[in-house]
Amino acid sequence: MDLTSYAELAVQLVNMGDELRNPFSLRSLLEETGRTEAASRLTRRDVDALWELREELTGVFEAAAGGDDVDVVDRLNGLLVRHPVHPQISGHDGQPWHLHLTEGGRVADALSVGSVMGLASVVTRLGVDRLGLCQASPCRNAYIDTSSNRSRRYCSERCASRANVAAYRARKRGA
Ligand SMILES: [Zn+2]
Ligand SMILES: [Zn+2]
Repeated sequence: MDLTSYAELAVQLVNMGDELRNPFSLRSLLEETGRTEAASRLTRRDVDALWELREELTGVFEAAAGGDDVDVVDRLNGLLVRHPVHPQISGHDGQPWHLHLTEGGRVADALSVGSVMGLASVVTRLGVDRLGLCQASPCRNAYIDTSSNRSRRYCSERCASRANVAAYRARKRGA
């Protein structure tokens, strides 16, 4: 159980946008992030359930970007009730004993529980202000700020340099 990688999964689900409705895209994401077992069991129902979850996760990031801590916590608590953790100790593939958040069941359930617990963990360990939305308009991708000085504003290097170029041009026009 790596809650940080699950928090990143929440970000990836949000940022997939409409692509999340495409089972092939979702399967690739799961494979690329080492969730091969989930990728192999993914069904249409899982895709639909995760699409609905994406709406809710997006709401969490929007509330955080708007600085509304109480709304973020209310939304996450609601999701925690709907996606309860069923922990089990597991020891597969020669790994030491470790906790799995949800054993068996549908792929969407396991991924939902993981994403929600991942975000809950970020909020409680690091703070609500660590969740944000990219400020390089029109991009509204989600990100988690793990910088030591809480300085992150953009989802990616690409958006950061795009915003820098735009700011530079605006300064030149102003001069
Ligand atoms: Zn495991
Ligand atoms: Zn961006």
